[in-house]
Amino acid sequence: MSNIEIDAKSGFCFGVVNAIKKAEEELAKGGVLYCLGDIVHNNLEVDRLEKLGLKTINHEEFARLKDVRVLLRAHGEPPSTYQIAKENNIEIIDASCPVVLRLQKKIHDKYDNEKDNNTQIVIYGKNGHAEVNGLLGQTDSSAIVIEKKEDLEKLDFSRNICLFSQTTKPLDGFQEIIDIIQSRMIGDARFEFFDTICRQVSNRIPNIKEFAMKHDIIFFVAGEKSSNGKVLYAECKKYNPDSYFITTPSDIDPSVVSKTATIGICGATSTPKWQMEEIEAKINEIRLGLN
Ligand code: SF4
Repeated sequence: MSNIEIDAKSGFCFGVVNAIKKAEEELAKGGVLYCLGDIVHNNLEVDRLEKLGLKTINHEEFARLKDVRVLLRAHGEPPSTYQIAKENNIEIIDASCPVVLRLQKKIHDKYDNEKDNNTQIVIYGKNGHAEVNGLLGQTDSSAIVIEKKEDLEKLDFSRNICLFSQTTKPLDGFQEIIDIIQSRMIGDARFEFFDTICRQVSNRIPNIKEFAMKHDIIFFVAGEKSSNGKVLYAECKKYNPDSYFITTPSDIDPSVVSKTATIGICGATSTPKWQMEEIEAKINEIRLGLN
């Protein structure tokens, strides 16, 4: 019996599955399909779709296009993107994840209701991340982005604070931010927070912990740009020091592979199953070469 296991709970979340399905459906119709930003933070999957005809563009290139079809990926986009599309007769294929769209609406409504109350809209997330840019756009870029607790110095605790989270942030980090803000509020200022973390990612943490502890060695497969990949890999490493972050089969260091060790292969929500299967095949090949 093989002592290699691919984590059944690893792989694309439904938001990414949906975006890729939409891209494949549109590509099958023929013609050029542009995608605003990498469809997933995974170069290999991007390459696969680019071979089918998908053209990845950035926001500057997008603003120069006219009369074309552009797919918006799961991360969502700010209102300015839709505005440009309207002005330039661009047909939008909107693959924004419904979870992200709900969060955008929530922030937009809150901003609208609170803008006369001097309330600070705060987003716990990564500056410059596509999803965060889409969220900031709901507030005319006035929201304050907090990446870590040190950034809380940017806040005025004597004014109302309304806190949201990027969908892929860790629950414990969010709780820590909530506790600090709560302890520092001054006077009558109001503090509200909304747990907007996507369980497709946070529920992976207990599973990945169990998976990492079950095996001697872990190969965690993800693209360098994947935020949730970094979070999930850190979790693997915490519970199994023999965890290795890899992207392609050639990243495997053969010296860490033995015949007897049990090996677990898992990945981010942006890691396709075929990529984990390639890793399994490579480990089997390395093992064949061992005495
Ligand atoms: S992690 Fe959650 S919010 Fe983000 S794309 Fe996947 S399903 Fe949507």
